[in-house]
Amino acid sequence: MKEFDIRIGLEIHVQLNTKTKMFCSCPNRLEDEPNTNICPICTGQPGILPQPNEEAIFKGILVSRALNSKIPEVLYFSRKNYFYPDLPKGYQITQYGISIGEKGILKVLTPEGIKEYPLERINLEEETAKSYHEGKKVYLDFNRCGIPLLEIVTPPFFTSPKEVGLFLKSLRRVLIYLSVSNCDMEKGEFRVDTNVSVNFKGEKKEHRTELKNLNSLTALKEAISFEIERQRKLLMEGKEVERETRLWDEEKKETRVMRTKEFVEDYRYFPEPDIPPFEIEEKWLLEKLSLLPDYYFDKFIKKGASFKESEILISSPFLAKFCENIFERFPYEKVKGWILTEILQYIDDLESLNSLPFSQEEFVDFLDKITKGEIPRHVGQEMIKKVMVENIPLKELLKSKIEIKKGEEIEGFIRDVIFENEEVVKKIKSGKKSAISFLVGEVMRKVKGKANPKEVKEKIEKALGI
Ligand SMILES: [Zn+2]
Repeated sequence: MKEFDIRIGLEIHVQLNTKTKMFCSCPNRLEDEPNTNICPICTGQPGILPQPNEEAIFKGILVSRALNSKIPEVLYFSRKNYFYPDLPKGYQITQYGISIGEKGILKVLTPEGIKEYPLERINLEEETAKSYHEGKKVYLDFNRCGIPLLEIVTPPFFTSPKEVGLFLKSLRRVLIYLSVSNCDMEKGEFRVDTNVSVNFKGEKKEHRTELKNLNSLTALKEAISFEIERQRKLLMEGKEVERETRLWDEEKKETRVMRTKEFVEDYRYFPEPDIPPFEIEEKWLLEKLSLLPDYYFDKFIKKGASFKESEILISSPFLAKFCENIFERFPYEKVKGWILTEILQYIDDLESLNSLPFSQEEFVDFLDKITKGEIPRHVGQEMIKKVMVENIPLKELLKSKIEIKKGEEIEGFIRDVIFENEEVVKKIKSGKKSAISFLVGEVMRKVKGKANPKEVKEKIEKALGI
C-alpha cells in the first residue's frame, strides 16, 4: 500500500457588517427588496469614482490584529479583471501584492488544547451581486454587489477534514467576538472554498483542485473526503489529477468539474487607478482588542471543563464573560450543571446570546443558597424554569421565603417513612447502606422538597441506630 501526502488549503470569504458598502454609500442590507440598495458606483456605471469605506478598513485591521497578521504602512487596491454578470464593472476591486493582513496565526481550539495554524493573507475587497437560478433563468440582486468582504487565505496546511472543521469553528468565533460579522453560513456571510491536493508521499506535483459551492461545515467536510478519495484512486490507477475547479453536488454527494482552473495571469491585475494608495492611520490601530475565545477556553479548561463543555460556554462573548465571573466565585464542578444544563436548555441560539433574564449578582445569590443547601436542588430547578420560561424575576423568587422544615418537624416524617418501608429498613440493617438514599427521597417527597437532604439523611441514620 502506497502512502499519500494530503494537503488542504482554505479560502474564506466573510461579509463585514458595516453600515454602508465598500466603495459607495449604499446601505449594506441584503434583506431589503432586491435591487433597491444600489447606485451608479456599485452597479458599475461609466465615470464613477469609488471611495473606500473607513469602517470596513477599520474592521479589516481589527481582524488582522486579532489574527496576528502584519499590517502594511500603506494600502492600495487592485483591479481583478474578469467578466461575469454578477459584477457589472467587468472587474473586482480587491487587493493584490499587498494585503490588509499579511501572514498571521489563528489559535485553534482542539480537544488536545490550543494549536496555532498559519494564515497566508487577509484581503479587503468588494462582494459580487447575488444570483438566483430558476430553471433556465438567472436573477441578479445587486443589493449584495459592493458589500465589503474579507478574504482570508491559508497555506495548504491541513491534512484532514476534521482539522479543517476545528479551524473554521475557531475562526468564526473570533470574528463573532470582534463583532465584525455575524458569520451566518446559511445566509452566505461566511463562505468557504477549499483546495485539495493528494500526492504519493515525497512527490510534490502542483495539481490541486479547488472546491466550491460548500454551504455548510458538513458539506465542506464531505466534499473534502470525497475529493481525497477521488484523487487517491486516480493516482493508484496511474492517472494524472487535473488542475481544475470542481463543484460539490449536495444531492449526489460528489464533486464535478466546473471549469479548468484559471491562472493568476488571466486576471491581468493592476493597481486601481481611481483610489490612490493611502497610509494606515494610527487611530485605526489603537482600538483595544476584545478578549478572544481562546482566553476563555483556556481558563475554563484549567477550571476543569471538558473540550465540549468549554466550546458551549464560549459560544457567545456574553456567555463566556458571565461564566468567567461565576467560576471565579464557585468551584466549577459544583455549579457547571446549573449553567450547562439548567439554564442553557432554554436557549435556542447560543451564539447570539447577549443577555440573561437575571443579573450576575442575582445568580451568585442563587448559587450561594444552592451550594449551602438552603435551596434544595429540585426547588432550584423549578425556580430556573420559572425565570426562563415564565419570565418571573429571579430576585422575586429568591425573596419569597422557602420554608425549610427542620428538627422535630422532619422527625415526624422520618418516623412515617421508616414505618411504611419495613423491607428497605431490613435491607439497610443487614448492611445495604446505599438503600438509605431511597428513604431520604421518600422523606423529601413528603415535605415537598422543603428540607435539607443532608440533614434528613443524618436523622434517618440516627433513627435506625447506624
Ligand atoms: Zn452603491
